[in-house]
Amino acid sequence: MGQSVPTIAPGQVARVWSALLRGLKEIAARLSASRWLVVAVAVIMVTLTAAAGLPPAIALMGFLAFVASVALLHRYESEAFEGRLPYPAASAREASAMQVMAEALPDPVILLNASGQVLSCNAPARSLFASLREGNHISSAIRTPEFLDAVGAAPQRGRAVTVTYAERVPVGRRMAATVAPITRGLEPGSNILVLLRDLTEGERINQMRADFIANASHELRTPLASLRGFIETLQGTAKEDSGARERFLPIMVEQAARMTRLIDALLSLSRVEMNAHVPPSDLVDLNEVLRQARETLEPLALENDIQLEVGRFPQPAIVRGDRDELVQVIQNLVQNALKYGMKGGFVRLVPKHIPSLGRQEGRYAIAVVDNGPGIAPEHLPRLTERFYRVDVASSREKGGTGLGLAIVKHILNRHRGELMIASNPNKGSTFTIMLNEVRSV
Ligand code: ADP
Repeated sequence: MGQSVPTIAPGQVARVWSALLRGLKEIAARLSASRWLVVAVAVIMVTLTAAAGLPPAIALMGFLAFVASVALLHRYESEAFEGRLPYPAASAREASAMQVMAEALPDPVILLNASGQVLSCNAPARSLFASLREGNHISSAIRTPEFLDAVGAAPQRGRAVTVTYAERVPVGRRMAATVAPITRGLEPGSNILVLLRDLTEGERINQMRADFIANASHELRTPLASLRGFIETLQGTAKEDSGARERFLPIMVEQAARMTRLIDALLSLSRVEMNAHVPPSDLVDLNEVLRQARETLEPLALENDIQLEVGRFPQPAIVRGDRDELVQVIQNLVQNALKYGMKGGFVRLVPKHIPSLGRQEGRYAIAVVDNGPGIAPEHLPRLTERFYRVDVASSREKGGTGLGLAIVKHILNRHRGELMIASNPNKGSTFTIMLNEVRSV
């Protein structure tokens, strides 16, 4: 009976042989790449055998196991790395893996195919672009030429690029887009990953920081320059002039006091900002705050010839707060009312309890009312910005730093409170603060 012997075609033998040779060559190449590691392990094994009495057979087995693991593990990793998988077959799997990864990222991520059609996008991308739809071309959501050029060139370029661009609609913003073909080399049909970052907020904060430093240095430089000028005059031309000395010294004292006020205000602001995210936990009675503010400010009111009238809540008015900070809020507002108010006029502190209504918690309001010249409506939205003043000269002359209301705003933010400003030019201004009441103690 004839038995059929499996026949191997000569072509097949050649293919197996060449695959074997290729495998051996790769292993040799990888071992050669790790040769110093292999030599180091051999030296360690020999040392352990000679010095610590490790049986030579165990040492040899350990050494061989290490060599095998270097060769095999290396092979596995490099195969994954060099992308031996046929790319088009892997692309569906890759797209869904990308989708899972994209959903986990906090920044907007969009996955496109090589011709720029949206394959998928994560939630932040969807909320950034209302018109982003799977299947649509990306240009239906982002039309900026710089960005579209980067997407068009991505498959041929074979590496990631980051482009920045400005958008005007729906809102003005600056964006950075990293456009990366998902490929390991040139792969014309590869998908494209787009990572977006909104630069607007970061750039605004950087600008604010730069403006703040410029403003603060300018505010300090002016009195400093004036002090230096007086000192140089007293050292030079007016050295023997006692009259000039008598005139200059009070001005010098005032300039030094202005610098101290500014530095105190800057420190105060930075302290409040440092605690901005730590809500206060103490319980404070606002009647105590009002009493303390009255005691501190009565002499100033007398000096300015202004009638200071401070009301009281009929019951203890308990809020969660930092007592010193709340006193500072009232002091800054009353000091402003006294500074800018009318000579012979009044400043009233009017407390009011607003009971809870439905889901709205109960609140305490304190209004600081003056009958001074008031503030034109166009200034009201900017009053709490650092160094913003309606009239710089008048603020400086009255000892202002331009930081009082910025400090008030920051303290109230920390207390989850509110500041409301109402003013009628020529009739007066009302600055009202609102704080949530604490009901059950
Ligand atoms: P300043 O140290 O200059 O007083 P603030 O931040 O306390 O700085 O106030 C900002 C600006 O708001 C003041 O320069 C002033 O022009 C205006 N302002 C504040 N309070 C009053 C008020 N009660 N009446 C009129 N203008 C006021």
